[in-house]
Amino acid sequence: MSKSAKSLIAIAIILVLACILLYPSLSDELSSEEKPDGYTVTFMNDNIEYATVNVDATSPVIGKNMPDAPPVEGNRIFVGWNTKTDGSGSNITLDTQIDRDIIVYAIWTVKGESTDTGFISTSDQSFKIDDKTVEIVLGNLDPIPRLDEVTVVIYDPETGKRCSGSFSGSEYTLSFDNVNVSFQDIDKDGLMDSNEKLIFKADDGLATGIWNVELNYNNYQAGNNQFHFHIFENGIESYTENVRVNFLDVGQADSALIFTSDNKTILIDAGVPLYKKTQYVPILLDQLEKLNVEKIDAMILTHPDYDHIAGAEAVLETYDVLNVYMCKTVGESTTYTKLLNAIDKEGCEKHIGDFSSGDYLNLSTTENFRVLSVDSKNDANSASIVIRMSCESSSFLFTGDAPKKVEKEMLQNYSEELDVDVLKVGHHGSSTSSSEEFLQVVTPHISVISCGKDNRYGHPHEETLERLEIYSDVIIRTDFTGAYNCISSGKIID
Ligand SMILES: [Zn+2]
Repeated sequence: MSKSAKSLIAIAIILVLACILLYPSLSDELSSEEKPDGYTVTFMNDNIEYATVNVDATSPVIGKNMPDAPPVEGNRIFVGWNTKTDGSGSNITLDTQIDRDIIVYAIWTVKGESTDTGFISTSDQSFKIDDKTVEIVLGNLDPIPRLDEVTVVIYDPETGKRCSGSFSGSEYTLSFDNVNVSFQDIDKDGLMDSNEKLIFKADDGLATGIWNVELNYNNYQAGNNQFHFHIFENGIESYTENVRVNFLDVGQADSALIFTSDNKTILIDAGVPLYKKTQYVPILLDQLEKLNVEKIDAMILTHPDYDHIAGAEAVLETYDVLNVYMCKTVGESTTYTKLLNAIDKEGCEKHIGDFSSGDYLNLSTTENFRVLSVDSKNDANSASIVIRMSCESSSFLFTGDAPKKVEKEMLQNYSEELDVDVLKVGHHGSSTSSSEEFLQVVTPHISVISCGKDNRYGHPHEETLERLEIYSDVIIRTDFTGAYNCISSGKIID
């Protein structure tokens, strides 16, 4: 007998012995405790098994055992888990009911081309020298601007407000309230050449948050040369949590919950359907509880209509809410008046119309929240706060009930910002929103319509769906799917 055959026999004997020794304990277990009646969900990523979750049949949802999104490489955006490899099956979220063993697949999409000119990405090109200084190395600007024709616009995270100025004198320095900006013209030719530096310095230390900067100059639309850098709280150098956006199931109403990658909880709208408050407020609160909400850092109520605010009073009573953002336009209903009283009682920071379109809200040090419209007109829908949230790997647009005329204004002012990955479709899919011109620019990968089954308005309207089918890859309707969750890597390397 050869040596290898001998060792094979030895291994076989050991295995048989092990089985005999283990058998009593296994059989004990089987007899004393019935094998749990449950299901296995196998998560696959790029054809490799990524995670396995066992789901108990008595509570057949994945819940907190949901695996983290797979790590992002390159230009990919993680869309979610789906029962089919091409994403055409059912989405699997924390609260999908599982009734059999299944295999689900990570669905990825590719990030759109960057529209930035000159600045490829902040993390590649900015350097934190110390707590007081950040240097930005310029890429190639085309055409190369003269320093004296550039307007520097900054949004200090402390205020989120726009301040602008131009370089004067040969020193190329510029002072704002909390920061000085200077330009290092290495070859002294008065031009902003590539590899030259823009330096931000604050004697008291740069405020934590996201510093958004624009360079505007002749022939360039405002915002064409945008970049940002993050100043994190002391001792924290990067955040690795995923950004999670949960479009809640609130019937014919709106509510979306965001967990940022620095662990801030943000609720955009807290609506319930008209005449169904007693039924839907518990449904809304139940979803927040299941998502393990502990406190709400900011509640943004896009406009004063019932289907966007009627659950807010209950949210204030249940959770510690730190900030509330609302438009100036007032509501006529008693629901609105009661909400204002509840906000006062909560004692949270009130931001009622104290921000304008273009401002950034200082809600997170990792994700950018920019207001693209607010109080455009006095009617409630046109007053909607429209928010763009951007993470490192993807972007979201929350439109409230903004109608086509507001979309048109945003196209004029923020065309660069409107091209997002995920769109919360305006006004529950009504044909009064989502114009063709708007969708042509937004080209959302995923469009989410928040609406109720058989609602009295016939939302979403057929013509909106037809337009979305042309410009969006995936259309999600909460009346069909219930709550819908998106996960996006928010990883930033400081
Ligand atoms: Zn609405």
